[in-house]
Amino acid sequence: MYARVAFPLPYESYYTYKIPDGLGTHIVRGMIVVAPLGKKPAVGVVLEVVRESGLPGIALKEISALGDPELTVPEDLLTLVEYTAGRYGTTPGMVFKSALPPGTLQRRKLYLYPGKQSIPQDCPREAREFLAKVAANAGRIAYSDIKRLKIISLKTVDSLIQEGILSVSPFKALRIAGSKKRWVKATGKTIPENLRNGTKAYHLLEKLIGSDECISTAVLKNQGFSASVIATLHRKGLVESEFRDREIEDIGRMESLVQERIFELTLWQRAILERVEASLNAGSYTGFLLYGVTSSGKTQVYLEAARLALSRGKSVLVMVPEISLTPQIVSRFERSAGVSPLVWHSHLTPTERALVYKRARSGEARLIIGARSSIYSPLKKLGLIVVDEEQDNSYKQDDPAPRYNARELAIEKGRLTGATVILGSATPSAEAYYAAKEGKLKLHTLPQRVAGKRLPRIEIISTASREGDRPKTRPVFPHGFWPVSERMHTELSIRLKNKEQVIVLLNRRGYSSSVICFECGWLGKCPDCEIGWTYHKARNRMICHYCGKEMPGPTVCPNCGSARLSFRGAGTERLEESLKNLFPAARIKRLDSDTATGKWESRDILDEFGKGKIDILLGTQMVAKGHHFPAVGFVGVIGADVGLSLPDFRASERVLQLLTQAAGRAGRSSKKTVTGLVMVQSFAPENPLFEYLLKDDYTGFLENELRIRRALKYPPFTNLILIEVSSTEPARALAGASGIKDEVCGNFKEKPFDVLGPAKSAIFKKGKLYRYQILLKLPTDYEFGGLNDRITSMVKCSRGFSVRIDIDPVNFT
Ligand SMILES: [Zn+2]
Ligand SMILES: [Zn+2]
Repeated sequence: MYARVAFPLPYESYYTYKIPDGLGTHIVRGMIVVAPLGKKPAVGVVLEVVRESGLPGIALKEISALGDPELTVPEDLLTLVEYTAGRYGTTPGMVFKSALPPGTLQRRKLYLYPGKQSIPQDCPREAREFLAKVAANAGRIAYSDIKRLKIISLKTVDSLIQEGILSVSPFKALRIAGSKKRWVKATGKTIPENLRNGTKAYHLLEKLIGSDECISTAVLKNQGFSASVIATLHRKGLVESEFRDREIEDIGRMESLVQERIFELTLWQRAILERVEASLNAGSYTGFLLYGVTSSGKTQVYLEAARLALSRGKSVLVMVPEISLTPQIVSRFERSAGVSPLVWHSHLTPTERALVYKRARSGEARLIIGARSSIYSPLKKLGLIVVDEEQDNSYKQDDPAPRYNARELAIEKGRLTGATVILGSATPSAEAYYAAKEGKLKLHTLPQRVAGKRLPRIEIISTASREGDRPKTRPVFPHGFWPVSERMHTELSIRLKNKEQVIVLLNRRGYSSSVICFECGWLGKCPDCEIGWTYHKARNRMICHYCGKEMPGPTVCPNCGSARLSFRGAGTERLEESLKNLFPAARIKRLDSDTATGKWESRDILDEFGKGKIDILLGTQMVAKGHHFPAVGFVGVIGADVGLSLPDFRASERVLQLLTQAAGRAGRSSKKTVTGLVMVQSFAPENPLFEYLLKDDYTGFLENELRIRRALKYPPFTNLILIEVSSTEPARALAGASGIKDEVCGNFKEKPFDVLGPAKSAIFKKGKLYRYQILLKLPTDYEFGGLNDRITSMVKCSRGFSVRIDIDPVNFT
């Protein structure tokens, strides 16, 4: 018997190994195994078990060890991995690298666990002794420690592994020292009469009696039961506690979650839920697009849908763009879904991720909330997949491969597992909207904000320097505090005086976007990318936002020595400085990737804002995500034009999405006193984009956008393949790109698709590399597998340049 094993390698899909005698029945498709690759042992996944190797006359190496059976990849996940590899032009092994807990396929160190097979009668004494030790310390003895232990020989251990009596895993058993958590449960079944009805203690006891299981005090705290309430019940002997190991507790919940009034479902919410219920009952795939304006109750639909699925014994996957930016959704699910969610995010340690993976696989975890890669969570009996903010770019992985789009994979996963899929957005992507128009997704709209909340009023402010004005004088800015305009300054003052909270968005980080010398005209550029430096004042560094190179901030011009340097263009850091100067008494906090560097910093800033401890929250697009802060009446947008000039056919779609999302943060209170107002500052207010924003006509924008895309052959009317060729020598990069183009076009008399390029990439030089790109526009029904194979085989033997292939790219720089 032979096994085809996938390793995380870019070009080879699998290698074939001989299965050692006696192991034949234990090795199955999906199993993690260890096998020699070159001179070193490597960890891979079995794709197939075959009778014949298909390689006659070649002596094949043998599989050396069986991996942790609890990590074995279930069939539907394997199929999804293989689909990803084919769809996005990579190998299954590379996809497993994203799909499996990080490190599964890379670890050098392996840990011993008891295997599936029982210990035979004739087992020698020292082997028995060793096996007992492994059983007592499962996952804590490393394979490399065996020699040092001097109980048993390495050879004997190998044969025990081969017989399946022992297994190895790249993961150490999870043990977080000194972090026991308290869990409580009720001692009796009735509430004693001396406990006053309506008190917190009464409600808590009622809750605990209603639950058969222990509840963690952390969860109770999140639900509003303080430690002292728990202590009160304890003193009366009404509850008992136990201490459990902390496992995956840190799920990014938010304390300040406003207790939302439970609104009766609207007609529109009920309409989609009825269809979802029918789909769940049928147990076959249906895809929905939930197009609901901001504050129209999309999350409530997700929650109700999740409850419907869970009550049918199915599991649920909820995908969000970024966990630390969406703590409110985590908290709402934790509070109301009925089962506790597990969170799948990039801040988990590999061992924690392995634990989440195993729990999903065993069926113990039934609700997972996660970002992009959670599409690969092996949930059992999957009933529902929700993709919130489906238009968000973060669902697409740019680098490294696999460059997949999780929104698309969600639909495929739904098809594979017969699950219902809901894509939700206030500003759907052109792709999803078109799919709905074509009937591939069932479109449901939520056209109104819930409970009489009104859409905010929108005002566009021109900050274009007027004809004849010298650029240095900008009369629209107060006291020289650019970039906040006079008009916005006035409104901010009023709102702050009214004790309202405000959000100010500027989607560019740093202090200034260019450094120029007044004397000689020197313009500071990253020497590698030839792109202007972004100045970061707090750290006094100039940073290249493309390659990350840094230089100390200049005090004099490096060209002429003049001290008259000008820092032009505003980023969030300068905006923060301006706001602090304009409103010295206000409590101001900045949220961007420079201030939110740690694990939960963005959540903490949002939490503080939710608790009313911040007056002005300013930042990049991070402040515009689906946050729900009812006290916010005003949202200001500075530099609405940022991003419009990018060489990307989705540029205007993205800017309008961002503006609409930002506007959606205003006026979410049901109180009549807080009226929503959004002010948008633009250098080019005549852009038709603002018409759509003012008319609140996102659908009109999409219709127009689809007309343009059809004419220019862009998605959703085509599939794009971006081939980027780079080298330290520009000539090699160009030669490589031309070679690939010939390979792509060579076989066709008449090409069934368009080929653009090779052309210099929008940023020609990135770091030390010169880059050329070729863009293919293929009809959507075009099978590009063969094309891909030809490019791959050419790339494999190329020298002197490297190639990056991005299928349906979302990032063109
Ligand atoms: Zn100079
Ligand atoms: Zn650079």
